[in-house]
Amino acid sequence: MKICTVWGDLSSDKSSENYPTDLFCEECFESMSPGKEESGIVSSQNDDGSYGDTCSRCGKTKEDELEE
Ligand SMILES: [Zn+2]
Repeated sequence: MKICTVWGDLSSDKSSENYPTDLFCEECFESMSPGKEESGIVSSQNDDGSYGDTCSRCGKTKEDELEE
């Protein structure tokens, strides 16, 4: 799991909506092409538990990921 800040709604007045931060599983993280120019990721860090245990994109949990 990775905690990622992604490009959000740039027309919003709230910075939390401009660059929302959420938890993503490795699969979703990879699908966002980290490190590439067209990536939707602004920054990422290793999961420290502060965003729960469920991927915000596909709903996979930490437990599911460990079972794979
Ligand atoms: Zn996911």
